[in-house]
Amino acid sequence: MRQLPEADRDAIRLAQDPQFTRWLDQITATGGCSHPVHLSGSTTTLDTATGEILSQYDTRAEPGERLLVRCRNRRATVCAPCSRLHAGDTFHLVRAGLTGGKNIPATVRHHPRLFITLTAPSFGPVHRAGDNRCRPRRDGSTCEHDRPLGCAAIHTPDASLVGQPLCTDCYDYTAHVLWHAHAGKLWDRFVIGVRRHLATSAGLVQSRFAEHARLSFARVAEYQKRAAVHVHAVVRLDGPAGPDDEPPAWGTADRLIDAVRASARRVLVRTPHSPAVGELTLRWGTQIDARPLRTDGDGPDDDAVAAYVAKYVTKGAGETGAGTDHRVTTWDDISTTPVSDHVRNLMRACWLLGGLPEYEPLHLRTWAHTLGYRGHILTKSRAYSTTYAALRAERAHHVGRADIPGTVTEAHWRYVGSGHTSGAALIASGIADDLAVSRRLGVEALKEGSGVNNRTA
Ligand SMILES: [Zn+2]
Ligand SMILES: [Zn+2]
Ligand SMILES: [Zn+2]
Repeated sequence: MRQLPEADRDAIRLAQDPQFTRWLDQITATGGCSHPVHLSGSTTTLDTATGEILSQYDTRAEPGERLLVRCRNRRATVCAPCSRLHAGDTFHLVRAGLTGGKNIPATVRHHPRLFITLTAPSFGPVHRAGDNRCRPRRDGSTCEHDRPLGCAAIHTPDASLVGQPLCTDCYDYTAHVLWHAHAGKLWDRFVIGVRRHLATSAGLVQSRFAEHARLSFARVAEYQKRAAVHVHAVVRLDGPAGPDDEPPAWGTADRLIDAVRASARRVLVRTPHSPAVGELTLRWGTQIDARPLRTDGDGPDDDAVAAYVAKYVTKGAGETGAGTDHRVTTWDDISTTPVSDHVRNLMRACWLLGGLPEYEPLHLRTWAHTLGYRGHILTKSRAYSTTYAALRAERAHHVGRADIPGTVTEAHWRYVGSGHTSGAALIASGIADDLAVSRRLGVEALKEGSGVNNRTA
C-alpha cells in the first residue's frame, strides 16, 4: 500500500467507501468531467393544486453530502469530456440552422445558405507552408533591418517557422492587435452591410429590409498560423418572420454571395485617435470565400460544415499556439508564457497599447492572452437556430429533471467546492474514456445499420 502512488492509494480509499457506487453514478452522470462543481442543497417538487410533495431530493443523502455537476468548459485542454459535449451541442446547433430540427423547420434547407470565410488583412509577410518555396525572390534584397525579404525554403505545415514574420521589426504588431480588438465591430458592420447590399439590389428602401427578409448567422473564430483570427460563418436568408418564413423571391444564393462579397470588401472600422499610433482604418483581408450550401449534394455537405464549426469551439487560444488559455496579469508573465516569439510580441503589443488611455475601452491587457480578440468563439444571431440553453434543457428532460406542467419546484443550491482529489480524478478519467469508447462503438453500429450517409434526426 505504501509503495503505491498517492492517486492509487486515494482511489482505493474511495472504493472502500460504503457510498462508492452512488459516487460512481454521479461521476458517470457528469460524463467523467475532470473539474466538476460540488453543490449542496435540495429540490422539492410540489403539486401546484394540492400542495402535495411529489418528489424530494436532498444532497444530505449523497456521498460527502454533495452533488457533482459538470464544469461545462468548452476547451479540450481544460476538460475533455465537457468539451466533447459542448462540441456535440455546437454541431446540433449549427446543423439545426442548416437542415432543420430542434424547433427549426426542415424547409430551411431550401433557403439560401452560405458558408463564408473572412480573413484578417496582412500585417507583414510571414513564413508560409506548402509545396512551393515560401517567398521566392531573385534579387536577394533585404528590409531596412537588414533581414532578407524572401525565403527560399519549403516549409511543412508543422514547421515552427510557419506563421512567424520574416522580420519582426517590419511586422505591424500594433495593427494586428488593434484589428483583433475591433473584429467584433467589423463583423457587425459587415452584417449591416450585407443587408444594405441585398436591399439595394432588390430595389428596396434599406430601412424596409426587415419587412421583406431576415438574415441569420452562426460564426466561429479560428486562429491561423500567423495568430490572426479568421471568421467562418454560416449565413442564411429567411422571410421576415425567420426560419418558418419563405425567403422573398429575389433572395437567391447568388444575390446573397454578391452582397457578402461587396460588404466584406467595403466595410471598415476606424480606431480611436491615439497621439502615439494615430488613427488606423481596419478592414477584412482580401481573401473572401463565400460558397453556397446546396440541397442537391453538390458542394460542401451540411453535416460536414456543422462538424467543421463544432471542431473550433473546443479549441482554446493555447491549443492553437496563438495565445494561452489563462490571463496574463503582469508584463513579466508574458516572458515566461510558453508561446512563440511572434505570439509573445503580440501579447507585449496588447500590454503596451493597453496602457494608453485612448485604448482603455478595448481592455487590451485583460485580453492579452487572446491577442486582443475578445469575441466569443461561437456567436449566432437569435433566429439562426436553437440555443445551448435549450439543448441542455432537452438533455435534462431525458434524464427526468424537466419541469412537469401543474407542478412547481423549489430549489436551494449552494456552491461548496470543485475539482477532484487525485484518486477521484483517476477514476473519472477512466469513466470518461469508457464513455468515449462506447459512444464511438454506438456511432459505428449506427453507421453499419443504416448505411454511411446515415442522417439521424
Ligand atoms: Zn467538465
Ligand atoms: Zn520561409
Ligand atoms: Zn525589417
